[in-house]
Amino acid sequence: MELKRTRHEKSRALFCEAQQYIPGGVNSPVRAFQSVGGTPRFMQSANGARITDADGRTYLDYICSWGPMVLGHNHPAVKAAVLQAVENGLSFGAATEAEVIMARLICDLVPSIDMVRMVNSGTEAVMSAIRAARGYTQKAKIIKFEGCYHGHFDALLVKAGSGVMTAGVPDSAGVPKGTAEDTLTAVYNDIDSVQKLFEDNKDKVAAVIIEPVAANMGVVLPEDGFLKQLREMCTANKALLIFDEVITGFRLGIDGAQGWFGVKPDLTTFGKIIGGGMPVGAYGGRRDVMQMIAPVGSVYQAGTLSGNPVAMAAGITQLKILRDNPEIYHRINSLGDRFYNELQKIAQQNGCTVNHIGSLGCLFFTDKPVTNYTSAKQADTARFARYFKKMLGDGVYLAPSQFEAMFLSYAHTDEDIDFTLQCANSFFEHENEN
Ligand code: PMP
Repeated sequence: MELKRTRHEKSRALFCEAQQYIPGGVNSPVRAFQSVGGTPRFMQSANGARITDADGRTYLDYICSWGPMVLGHNHPAVKAAVLQAVENGLSFGAATEAEVIMARLICDLVPSIDMVRMVNSGTEAVMSAIRAARGYTQKAKIIKFEGCYHGHFDALLVKAGSGVMTAGVPDSAGVPKGTAEDTLTAVYNDIDSVQKLFEDNKDKVAAVIIEPVAANMGVVLPEDGFLKQLREMCTANKALLIFDEVITGFRLGIDGAQGWFGVKPDLTTFGKIIGGGMPVGAYGGRRDVMQMIAPVGSVYQAGTLSGNPVAMAAGITQLKILRDNPEIYHRINSLGDRFYNELQKIAQQNGCTVNHIGSLGCLFFTDKPVTNYTSAKQADTARFARYFKKMLGDGVYLAPSQFEAMFLSYAHTDEDIDFTLQCANSFFEHENEN
């Protein structure tokens, strides 16, 4: 049977084949274009702010591998460091100097972190941090917030954001009731909801985990004082405060959201960004808590590939560039301010609203303020899908879901931003004509 010719013929053929061998044809659900429809683009290469698909079509990329490509894709220094590390071998399953350099770098850059342990993904980082918190406090319950995503770890797949929110199944099947019953959910930006959980579960809460800027239900900012109040409440209740900075860490600034808002968590989780695009995660924080981890303490956590030398080379190089060139954050944050403020002007004339902080932002298809999961859910996802398709057609690659963030990189230019604004404007003009 002859394939219908389209402009993304190869992606279409690959997607057909992939569906026979990989569930849904993808290795992570949000890649499947499930909520926007159409064929996911199979990518082949990326450089700077641009990504090229299997059919040779190039897009302006606002996903940036879901955050880590903060310098842009295929940065020459990061690439050179990886190639050099490869020369020495891919994996040793033994300690290396690179791990010491990485750990020291993170501890020097983030004041709340005295010790850090490398893992291989954000999910692992969160899972391990929760175990450490439970081991340290000798308590079982954890408080999370509706719409925050912390990876696909059983106990946290409760009222989760990101792909599970997009798919409309925030509580995953396959999670035994017992596993999730120690997970309590609070409302983002509603400190009273946290207070109530603490009161109803006196002396049982080990930790509160939060995305200090929620970036998995679109982008939702913490209201003034919210994180500070959370800090005080955790201290008063002898619970640990865990900031999941998988998205915000080393993106909002060198000390992440905790530096931006001036609130010190007990533990922090990081993900992909500290691997510069390689599969990496880490958790770290107070020395007395981190000393609970094996082999020093009794909380077991391990990983054959943890601290992999190639991944460390990429991550160290990216972090050092970010540390040594503060103008990078200045640039991406001011580019973000210009872009999202101009997008907001267009949005509000068309019944939409933009939330943003620095280089992270989201255009919500609702004219109401978005401050939590319930208000994010009011967005018109069918209208988002039309917007997504039009932008993709124009060569702008956005996350294929209303409930994901846009990411800018140091490689995005003012011209890129102007082009994207023109495309957005043209979507709304065209929409209004019909
Ligand atoms: N925490 C947050 C805040 C995330 O955004 C993500 C994924 N984007 C994770 C945890 C899980 O990370 P990973 O996909 O690397 O397991």
